Amino acid sequence: MELDVPRLDDLQLRGKRVLVRVDFNVPVDEKGAITDDTRIRASLPTIAEIIAKGGKPVLLSHFGRPKGKVVESMRLTAAGKRLAELLKTPVQKLDESIGARVADAIAKAAPNTTILLENVRFHPGEEKSDPALAAEFAVLGDVFVNDAFGSSHRDHASVCGIARLLPSAAGRLMEKEIAAFRRVLVEPAQPFLAILGGAKVSDKLKVVDHLLEKVNAILVGGGMAYTFLKAQDHRVGKSLVQEDQIDLVLKSLMKAERMGIPILLPEDHVCATAFAENSKPIPSGVDIDDALLGLDIGPKTAATYRRKILEAKTVVWNGPMGVFEWPSFRAGTDAVAHAVADCPGYTVVGGGDSVAAVERAQLTSRIKHISTGGGASLELLEGTLLPGIEVLLRKRT
Ligand code: ADP
Ligand code: MG
Repeated sequence: MELDVPRLDDLQLRGKRVLVRVDFNVPVDEKGAITDDTRIRASLPTIAEIIAKGGKPVLLSHFGRPKGKVVESMRLTAAGKRLAELLKTPVQKLDESIGARVADAIAKAAPNTTILLENVRFHPGEEKSDPALAAEFAVLGDVFVNDAFGSSHRDHASVCGIARLLPSAAGRLMEKEIAAFRRVLVEPAQPFLAILGGAKVSDKLKVVDHLLEKVNAILVGGGMAYTFLKAQDHRVGKSLVQEDQIDLVLKSLMKAERMGIPILLPEDHVCATAFAENSKPIPSGVDIDDALLGLDIGPKTAATYRRKILEAKTVVWNGPMGVFEWPSFRAGTDAVAHAVADCPGYTVVGGGDSVAAVERAQLTSRIKHISTGGGASLELLEGTLLPGIEVLLRKRT
């Protein structure tokens, strides 16, 4: 996969209006207060560097799903306030993202001021990647920087459309994400291990198929494991199974066998009689009683997986090993998180819930790369070149 995109260093920034696509789609509580500002923090290096180099940052982001209309609760006002606190330089939040008044405000802004435009998804053309909207964004800047890795699997006006119209480059966050996935996907240090989990096997089968070409082994856990186990004629009780995926799972298993790449499945489980937080955890061997459903990998599986993980030189992990939101069914995910943290090799964690599990276990700083893009990282692992990256690559030729 070719991933050699232009970088900030390739753009003239001094005296320029620099349109920057960031990802400020932060989680908020019922009152609209930001509960996790990781995504805002992740954009700071790019913004600070543009200011330091004499450019004027003009930020674009989406927030929530307003579906092409102005929704008061989905304004970027709180994000702008938090950005100003973190950046420690002035931020001017506008209540529109296009038009003459916006252009005027950008022209009048003091040199070290960062402009934050309003939620780009207030315009119906954003998600349709309407070239007319992209042109209205593009006239507000001289150059474009994409630092929204988490949005780069979408061909949207503010992600791809502007890049088609202006000199463009990847921001520092984007650069870091691309470098991490390149290290995993292009000549990874071996042994290379993939750990896949999460609820639905249908979300992850393409990843299995693509990674089989790259890895030395795949460890499977979480809800997706039960479709694999059922495909191998194991008893899975009332566990989550996607019947319509069994044929595809069998195909993947056969492909793996042909290639000599082991796909490891759980050898024991933590089960319950019902899918509920206060259910009593019941240990089970590989075959599960009809009255039970599997909600976590068991201790034997966790120990086997830990051993494999510690031997690896490259690890990529996507998807928790169980219903880690519930304390009784968290041990398997915690064990894998600790093993990945203890692994001396190059380790990458992607996926919203897997990253949340790592954060909960307070292991973030011991993982080599935590991806800020769930969907985007999954598509890269499927071997898909993201549209937001592809358009930057074309700037090279
Ligand atoms: P990520 O966001 O890391 O990509 P996913 O969204 O694919 O992960 O999957 C996470 C979800 O899978 C979690 O909400 C978790 O509760 C659920 N899950 C994991 N194991 C099971 C299981 N055995 N049965 C049902 N749900 C599960
Ligand atoms: Mg998820």
